[in-house]
Amino acid sequence: MARDPDCVFCRIIDGKISAHVVHSGPRILVMLDIGPLAPGHLLVVPKDHYKSMHETPDDVAAEIGAALPRLVAALLKLPQIAGVNVLQNNGRAAGQEVEHMHVHLIPRALDDGLGYRWRAGKYAGDEAESIRRRLVELLEGSSG
Ligand code: AMP
Repeated sequence: MARDPDCVFCRIIDGKISAHVVHSGPRILVMLDIGPLAPGHLLVVPKDHYKSMHETPDDVAAEIGAALPRLVAALLKLPQIAGVNVLQNNGRAAGQEVEHMHVHLIPRALDDGLGYRWRAGKYAGDEAESIRRRLVELLEGSSG
């Protein structure tokens, strides 16, 4: 297993720091966030150390993805949870503080005051089409 001894999540996975673990799979651990935005706030964390989403291998990403529906369904059975945001901060510019890839499951209730509305922009001219073309190129390049 690839671990970073200075990483808080690696230390949890190695049992050196305690955490409220709700699921341990072959490649992932799911635990309560220590600083919850709402009670039940979960983190889904790969057991190996990958800094961010784009470094995460497909088999690990697949286990994370496969766990999400069950985790969301379980959260929705808890009292006072009426919705769930799935959030993944990828890179410091996106608000990532712990550099060990993780997915947040954030419980929501109507009028909970957490908010989650970003100001939508607008594409000018052919900007959307040129971004689309570049992304298709990159995706086709990385698939083969
Ligand atoms: P992010 O801003 O996406 O990097 O989020 C990192 C999250 O990790 C924050 O929500 C923290 O509250 C959470 N966190 C940091 N240390 C621990 C810990 N020891 N146990 C559980 N969650 C933690």
